[in-house]
Amino acid sequence: MEHFTLRGGTVVDGTGEPAQRADVTVADGRISAVGDVPRSSGGTDVDVSGLVVSPGFVDIHTHFDAQVFWDPDLTPSSWHGVTTVVQGNCGFGIAPTRPKDRELVMETLELVEGMRVDTLRSGIDWCFETFPQYLDVVRALPKRINLGAFVPHSMVRLYVMGADAAFSRTATDAELADIRHITREAMDAGAVGISTSQAPSHQGPQGRPVPSRFADVREVAALVETLAEVGRGIIEITYGPLMEIEEVAQLSKQHGVPITWGAVLPGLFGPPGSAMDMLERGTSVGGQLWPQTSTRFITTQMSLENPYQWSRVPAFAEVLGRGADAMAAAYADPSWRERALAQMESIADQTDFLDGDIDGYFRRTSVEETGCHFDLRGVRLADVAAARGGHPLEVMLDLALEDGLATRFRNLPRTDKAEITELVTDPRTVLGAHDAGAHVDMLCDSCYPSYTLRYWVREEQAMTLEQAVWRMSGQPAALWGLADRGTIEEGKAADLVAFDPETVGETHPERAWDFPADGDRLIARSQGIEHIWVNGTPTRQNGTDLEGAAPGMVIDSR
Ligand SMILES: [Zn+2]
Repeated sequence: MEHFTLRGGTVVDGTGEPAQRADVTVADGRISAVGDVPRSSGGTDVDVSGLVVSPGFVDIHTHFDAQVFWDPDLTPSSWHGVTTVVQGNCGFGIAPTRPKDRELVMETLELVEGMRVDTLRSGIDWCFETFPQYLDVVRALPKRINLGAFVPHSMVRLYVMGADAAFSRTATDAELADIRHITREAMDAGAVGISTSQAPSHQGPQGRPVPSRFADVREVAALVETLAEVGRGIIEITYGPLMEIEEVAQLSKQHGVPITWGAVLPGLFGPPGSAMDMLERGTSVGGQLWPQTSTRFITTQMSLENPYQWSRVPAFAEVLGRGADAMAAAYADPSWRERALAQMESIADQTDFLDGDIDGYFRRTSVEETGCHFDLRGVRLADVAAARGGHPLEVMLDLALEDGLATRFRNLPRTDKAEITELVTDPRTVLGAHDAGAHVDMLCDSCYPSYTLRYWVREEQAMTLEQAVWRMSGQPAALWGLADRGTIEEGKAADLVAFDPETVGETHPERAWDFPADGDRLIARSQGIEHIWVNGTPTRQNGTDLEGAAPGMVIDSR
């Protein structure tokens, strides 16, 4: 194994402690010395003068469950200094899955996580059925970075109950016992925790809620109890009508199990201050509750071929997943439009994206990518509607129809910068909800490490470099039980990044067609991330990724 010393850099060690000039020696994949390392100590030298040396970043909220099959580099995350990802969030993944449910799982992933069915069909090697088998397959796949996996509740439920029951009702006592058993087996096989979702936006085929949304409190508590029995791991529970954040905190307190809440995001739960209020309510209960917040102003680029945000409106839910022709026919049908408009008005108050302010939604939504409306790029739908006449929803439908549904509408959430700043800098939150590997057609927040270092640290100076690095490495690693990662300390695994604090940043998102079956996605690259090491092996040198580097491992909290 390699033996080398990084010399001349400024070490920000991931604990939040002040930066210091220090050398870092790596031997046999581990950090063997930090400080003034004499030149006589052997090995080679790597000059990192002028650069900050930090732990590799740990992204605890990703959806690489399928992508790991065709993208060993786990991009774009690995481009941004991320050296460990945790996948299987929000209750979704691809294991355990019985062969007869594969199509249903892929259709659900398309709707819920924005992955294309054709890409999934040609990209996944379905050579597994159980979660332990899946994890063994992923262990054997080449990986540029480390990967930890959650057991996804919706998949466990579908596996135990079958499609009809999983998508329609609560579990019987016998089914609940099986859900516990399968979850326990997955933890024993090396999962880092469990994930479940109650989010109203998680709608499967034909507008049916995803399986985890049919769970009752008893079933969610059973998942928490399973972790308590195992004695390690964290569970992700999303917001939703089943439980308030206080009740979730109470569960954590009662069972002594850490819970990460997805998520506290301004603009999603009501007027300014609501997300901060949710954080206060949850953390005041006690327990180990870790609400996630995004560093990014979550901006989506949605097409009406997968009108994710609009799935709460029944008329849209009806056509979800029916294919472009059926959708276009509905969008053109005056009676369908009439229903959609009426339903939008009546449920505007209950949907997180409209949030009771339909006009505001269309003022924050503009034409972004288009095959024909070039003069409308960047123009707000409210303004297009004013010029053309008609309701902005009808104008959105018309624009999409004229463009074969290809037009992408860019939606800025109803955010409040002051509140985001508070949440991003509040140590009671964790940085998450960036959804790498999901919604790849409409957003790219996986670039958040380079973005955070550029925007929040260098430009806004809302947090110090030390705080930002801790928030992206030491803090998540500790909370997720990844004891070997996240800080620069002797004896720890050598996951390291060397970046230039003056130039680090992300590039503007661009569309790439590099997924199986010509699948497209938005990607953002990094600048200023000069060197990366994973488990002591270099994966990037002088800003260029080393081809074929695959030192990543499946890791867990044991
Ligand atoms: Zn997610």
